[in-house]
Amino acid sequence: MTTVTLHDLRKEFDDVVAVNGIDLEIVDGEFLVIVGPSGCGKSTTLRLLAGLEDATGGEIVMDGRDVTAVEPKDRNVAMVFQNYALYPHMTGRRNITFGMKSSGDFTDEAIDRRVGEAAETLDIADLLDRKPQAMSGGERQRVALGRAIVRDPDAFLMDEPLSNLDAKLRIQMRAELAQLHTSLGTTTVYVTHDQTEAMTLGERVVVMNDGRIMQVDEPQTLYDFPANRFVAEFIGDPAMNMLPVDIENGTAVHDAFAIPLPNADGGLRNGANGDGDVPIRDGRRAVLGVRPEDLYLATERPDASGETLAATVDVTEPLGDSLLLHCSIGESPCKIQAKPRSDIRPGDTVSIAYDPARLHCFDPESGDAFY
Ligand code: ATP
Repeated sequence: MTTVTLHDLRKEFDDVVAVNGIDLEIVDGEFLVIVGPSGCGKSTTLRLLAGLEDATGGEIVMDGRDVTAVEPKDRNVAMVFQNYALYPHMTGRRNITFGMKSSGDFTDEAIDRRVGEAAETLDIADLLDRKPQAMSGGERQRVALGRAIVRDPDAFLMDEPLSNLDAKLRIQMRAELAQLHTSLGTTTVYVTHDQTEAMTLGERVVVMNDGRIMQVDEPQTLYDFPANRFVAEFIGDPAMNMLPVDIENGTAVHDAFAIPLPNADGGLRNGANGDGDVPIRDGRRAVLGVRPEDLYLATERPDASGETLAATVDVTEPLGDSLLLHCSIGESPCKIQAKPRSDIRPGDTVSIAYDPARLHCFDPESGDAFY
């Protein structure tokens, strides 16, 4: 059982606030992914968990024990790094067993047994007698995982472990990591800047920006109900369209359209993570958010109800499985993911339908979602 709790955790490097007061509960056995742009503080958060950085403030509690000031070796966590951190002069086997041997806590038989089990789990038996320079990137990362597994840690801490692999191998290793987690059930905290990795691997995903947590949720909830504009734009590719509007009589009024917001008086839907305090007031300014895949050519959805919007097509990008239209609605740029093989051309005016249940509104100043 390993539950990890962070209370108001802070880390400053001189005048840089890398981690700015984080509260987080990591549930026993979960695969938690921390994602965010470069410099947002995700690696520092992981290094604080590992004990590789000293916290400037706050607490880290593992299973009820305050470990904030505990040495890394006494935390029983295993870190897996982006650059594998293997010793080049040692074989795979020596790399895997080095930590266990030097701790003096394990008999030779126990070490052999654990290496055998890890080799089978990770399919690395034929790498045990090779040195890292004779292994591919994927093989090195498997050996690095082996080194983490044999220690049977309370938690795995993984810092961008797949980012040095080519795209195809990354997808394969992603699936293997997910499988490994299913079979071992060990609490895992995984840091990445790659939203696809976050969405596919995370049972829950923490989105960070500027040293703070923007939202913690299951992947689909983050996608469907972003708590603020940052999460809405960070998760999803192509990014959510953002159109400036005024709210008048429960309607989002833009220079080029007016669309009613169903149940606008109900505030946030489905308990999205905002504080729910931001009322939908008439007269307020807002940013209307809608994902490109939630906009359709009206001709593609003759059964769609509701208003349609007029857009001018500026650029078309055939993506194979869809046609991405870069359009202008009035003065606002807007992307639309249409069906492939359409004969739309730049300069065309198109009629756009949308799904009224998939509209979002954000406060222009705070960025908080209020609809
Ligand atoms: P990346 O994806 O680029 O690794 P990150 O989200 O993991 O970014 P961190 O590495 O945690 O971000 O860095 C957060 C902030 O702290 C950055 O501004 C970084 O420059 C700063 N920082 C990190 N480590 C140190 C250090 N040892 N000394 C000074 N500043 C640091």
